[in-house]
Amino acid sequence: MDWETFEGWGRRIAAWAADYRGTLRERPVRAPLAPGATRAALPARPPETAEAMEDIWADFERIVMPGITHWQHPRFFAYFPANAAPASVLAEWITAALAPQCMLWQTSPAATEMETRMMEWLAEATGLPPAFRGVVQDSASSATLAALLVMRERALGWAGNAQGLAGQPAVRVYCSGEAHSSVERAAWIAGIGRENLVTLPVRGARRGLDAEALERAILRDAAAGLRPAGVVACTGATGTGASDDVAAVCAVAERHGLLVHVDAAWAGSAMICPEFRHLWAGVERADSVVFNPHKWLGAQFDCAAHFLKAPEDLTRTLAIQPEYLRTHGADGVVDYSEWSIPLGRRFRALKLWVLIRAEGLSGLRAMIRDHVRWSAALCARLRAEPGIEIVTEPVLSLFTFRLTGEDADARTLALLQRINDDGRIYLTPTKVDGRQVIRFQAGAVETTAEDVETAFDVITELAREV
Ligand SMILES: *Cc1c(COP(=O)(O)O)cnc(C)c1O
Repeated sequence: MDWETFEGWGRRIAAWAADYRGTLRERPVRAPLAPGATRAALPARPPETAEAMEDIWADFERIVMPGITHWQHPRFFAYFPANAAPASVLAEWITAALAPQCMLWQTSPAATEMETRMMEWLAEATGLPPAFRGVVQDSASSATLAALLVMRERALGWAGNAQGLAGQPAVRVYCSGEAHSSVERAAWIAGIGRENLVTLPVRGARRGLDAEALERAILRDAAAGLRPAGVVACTGATGTGASDDVAAVCAVAERHGLLVHVDAAWAGSAMICPEFRHLWAGVERADSVVFNPHKWLGAQFDCAAHFLKAPEDLTRTLAIQPEYLRTHGADGVVDYSEWSIPLGRRFRALKLWVLIRAEGLSGLRAMIRDHVRWSAALCARLRAEPGIEIVTEPVLSLFTFRLTGEDADARTLALLQRINDDGRIYLTPTKVDGRQVIRFQAGAVETTAEDVETAFDVITELAREV
């Protein structure tokens, strides 16, 4: 492709993107597609000769678009959001054109230094103290894996990487049953093992981990010759927004010399609003924190903000520094590849910079506050409906509900199926204490109060049918 063709298509795609986003309400949120349909529509063999962009585009519209679930849809109330605000899309286009590989300071000084500054901006914006240094990771899962690797190495006196884990005492990590699956996977990958990830019971309306049970487990493990290493606390867990008492967890961890990593993947973005910070009160005592600006804040996937107090522990765990990567003579520069698991790194700070400037913190706060308010209003209206019960109260913009009466589990699932086949809104299920529930979260950039009211209409209309 030549650059003249590129420019023409660039304009066309920009116009298409604005139109697509502007008319999303007309589409069903979830792709109404049978498994295998897209693959069957794609030729079995790659083309030998060049094809015209016009033909490729026509196939994109014909084959790809019907199989897209519209995550930017204003009535996407499923999972958590994966927001891409328009400003961050533009920034990603710039990054795509620059295509820098930002593994070292010298492989793009502006990318490295902007990353340092953007993480300072995010720390300030979310009220994290300056003792936290930051790095942008690809995902919260990667940040949590990095945190578990540091917990392991520190607990083993830095012997794990050097000697392997055979013959080492078992490293123990603690979390609640509400913790994200990425914590368990991190335990597998770090060689800690599922059986050494101790899942603790939760207590109270916040469904936070029982700090006394944590302390008992640590004492029992230490007495048995195991190596308690760290705790993963959650703020706004995925199922129902469960939030541990971070201060209480840190108090126990401090008494026994354990590290604390806080997973606030979704809820962290809301901490730009001071009134929500009670959810992670005590976070300043944690050793590391991760949240995803690629969820609620609007910085296009992928962008995970990983804060840590002792980056030297992380680089001691992850830095390889072969001769050909050494940045001779550049003392004091940060090479962020030593802070993450992959060597290569995208220029992810640019979209934060463009997004935060284009929206302003006040604009982003207003978006999040609207979502929280509208979600609470919907929760109140559903609570008043006969036949519907609220199962978990709103945590920020997330709550869960279900149908009451006979066969409530099956009818709740049947309702969910009807809602998602209907297409006007999209919701996802979870279980609370073994009971089937439906999650609702409002979080898309372009959601309005009317969209949330539509959710009420759809839910109550279809609930009458099951
Ligand atoms: C979404 C989520 C994750 C995983 O985030 P990725 O960036 O996709 O790895 C981890 N923890 C919680 C609480 C989440 O909501």
